[in-house]
Amino acid sequence: MIQLVRISGRLRGILAAVAAAILFFAAAFPPALSSSASLNIVAPRESAVGRPFLVYVSSMSNMTGLTISWGGKMIPVEVRREGDISEGVALLGTDVGNSAPGTKKLEISAGIDGSVETVSREVQVASVEYPVQRLTLPEAMVTPPKVVLERISREREESSSALAAVSPERKWDLPMVRPVPGVTTSPYGFRRILNGQPRSPHRGVDYRAKEGDPVMSCAAGTVLLSADHYYAGECLYVDHGNGVVSVYMHLSSRMVSAGDQVSAGDVIGLAGRTGRVTGPHLHFGLSLQGSMVDPEPLLGK
Ligand SMILES: [Zn+2]
Repeated sequence: MIQLVRISGRLRGILAAVAAAILFFAAAFPPALSSSASLNIVAPRESAVGRPFLVYVSSMSNMTGLTISWGGKMIPVEVRREGDISEGVALLGTDVGNSAPGTKKLEISAGIDGSVETVSREVQVASVEYPVQRLTLPEAMVTPPKVVLERISREREESSSALAAVSPERKWDLPMVRPVPGVTTSPYGFRRILNGQPRSPHRGVDYRAKEGDPVMSCAAGTVLLSADHYYAGECLYVDHGNGVVSVYMHLSSRMVSAGDQVSAGDVIGLAGRTGRVTGPHLHFGLSLQGSMVDPEPLLGK
């Protein structure tokens, strides 16, 4: 059944802003509507490994406690009420580093007038042939000396716990702010071979930036982690709510600390060449409930 979904003025802005991102998929992956008695859902039928997508849920009844189950995670989604519409919007995706293509289940549950309504959908996640990139780096950076292994494992735990943050308030907005204006020097998904050895694929985007260039937060949020890591160098993790966390690496300077509130476009650090790098640039990553996706379709000009 074809049905019109009413969208409030406030969220219409987001949905229009990401029209480019949604349409980016639309040619190949038309979004689909489905509904239960009281829930209207707009979500794609198809996606691809590494790509983000948007799920919009609305109801003319009073909706509470909206959660989305995707990729083995339960994601709380903030519900806002405007006029007679209750609505929530979530960013979801898959990770080039650990997601297999195939049919995946998307389950949406919401409290409606004291009972829980659940709608299940299937999303076909297509495989993507990302190109191979060969890099030559100082050997110590490819095969780290034993003395730093403990440091690396401690830092890995620190960053995974930051990426696992799922806070209840949605602070992100679309399109997101491009953190630096420079061109892409290494896109998302490159399968990397370092000094002849296959390594994990590139789970973010590298942008050209000079040492000292300002780096902006892609959205409003709370700084989760400000640290100096062996691989990432000086890095920042910012929580934007509902499982959306952005990551900025190889900085020469960090201008915020854990717990600081930032607005979209705030300068949070300066670009640099700290950590495992061949030259100054910004590595920008976007985690959706722990899955590092290609942030590019979500960024403004
Ligand atoms: Zn990178």
